[in-house]
Amino acid sequence: MRHFHFQDGQMMAENVSLHTIADEVGTPVYVYSAATLKRHYQVFEQAISDMDALIAFSVKANSNIAVLALLAKLGAGADVVSGGELTRALMAGMPAQKIVFSGVGKTMDEMRAALEADILQFNVESMPELYALDATARALNTTARIAFRINPDVSAGGHAKITTGKAENKFGINIDQAESAYAEAASLGNIEIVGIDMHIGSQIDTLAPFKAALTKGIELIKTLRASGHNIRSYDFGGGLGIPYNEDENTPPLPALYGQMIAEATIGLDLKMIFEPGRLIAGNAGILLSKTVYVKKGSVRNFIILDAAMNDLIRPALYDAHHHIEPVTLTENGAPTQTYDIVGPVCETGDTFAKHRDLPEISAGDLIVIHSAGAYGAVQAGQYNTRPLIPEVLVSGDKYEIIRERPSVEDILKTEHIPDWV
Ligand SMILES: *Cc1c(COP(=O)(O)O)cnc(C)c1O
Repeated sequence: MRHFHFQDGQMMAENVSLHTIADEVGTPVYVYSAATLKRHYQVFEQAISDMDALIAFSVKANSNIAVLALLAKLGAGADVVSGGELTRALMAGMPAQKIVFSGVGKTMDEMRAALEADILQFNVESMPELYALDATARALNTTARIAFRINPDVSAGGHAKITTGKAENKFGINIDQAESAYAEAASLGNIEIVGIDMHIGSQIDTLAPFKAALTKGIELIKTLRASGHNIRSYDFGGGLGIPYNEDENTPPLPALYGQMIAEATIGLDLKMIFEPGRLIAGNAGILLSKTVYVKKGSVRNFIILDAAMNDLIRPALYDAHHHIEPVTLTENGAPTQTYDIVGPVCETGDTFAKHRDLPEISAGDLIVIHSAGAYGAVQAGQYNTRPLIPEVLVSGDKYEIIRERPSVEDILKTEHIPDWV
């Protein structure tokens, strides 16, 4: 996070002033720090270094091909959840043998593309999916390597919209049905069982849910092996949380997470797969926005930004907290005001934060929304005909636009008025 820091009273992304980026690229804009991405990757890599492990970056957290290429250079593979993400990962140089394919609704077209690329494994989430994969592999005269995504029925805490490991969630095969699922898979001609998979949720801020899932997973691996299944790998998913707020409970350090898993799996001769997303990208990016107006209401003061919920939906969707501050540092003791920080979209939900104490803000002031590197740009839309905003990658004193801002004309090019209207 500290690669976004103040220098001479102005916030920098590494050695590039955010003012410069705002002037040259315009706002709103996502800005990512290459050094932070790299550091987060290496901290995680170090944390799991006692295990035979693959880091399959969760592409859905940040799917820009420049980000993927940077991680690929560091040795990362990818966890993809669609054919589109598979195309991105391959285009960014991630080797197919480091790509796993998750998701509850893989189509046969997507399966075909992944089989043709010869990816490492499919994380299969249901029996109908298993049969479709077997049929697709048969048609291509090949074999699909699979792990079942096992739902261990543990509560991971966090927001209801991002917990995935409870029996009532749509994800995976319930653990009590795992043995029969594996027996069925073993009977299919074009399926090869290689492991088990779990991903219990996101922004998990204690080790306990991971520990509970791990215990169940290891027990299951032993049972499956005793039944003659060749379980070689354990994909433990992602989900380790990050600090969004400096005062709040900090999630466990990756080193403690890694140590717990290494100790629990020692001697089991397992290849581990990890799918971190947020942990790598979340605090490697910010959303840089400009104040359009400051509106003093009778009961509230509003900072109205040029960024909106269509650019960063996390506050509206998950009540997510983001640390927000001006790009220009004010002197200690300067007067503050309490603001609601909102976007221009015509929805009350278009609110980034409520009741924040900030220095006096004026129209034109640049504002930083922190921790926007994961589940930010990827979830953006064009609601209110607001074009997707650009993404910029900074490294040292250089930066580059890694996704351009489309124009309104670009958007309208894809629409047609039938001549019978
Ligand atoms: C979203 C997701 C991840 C990444 O989760 P993070 O909380 O970003 O680490 C990993 N695996 C699967 C299957 C996912 O759906």
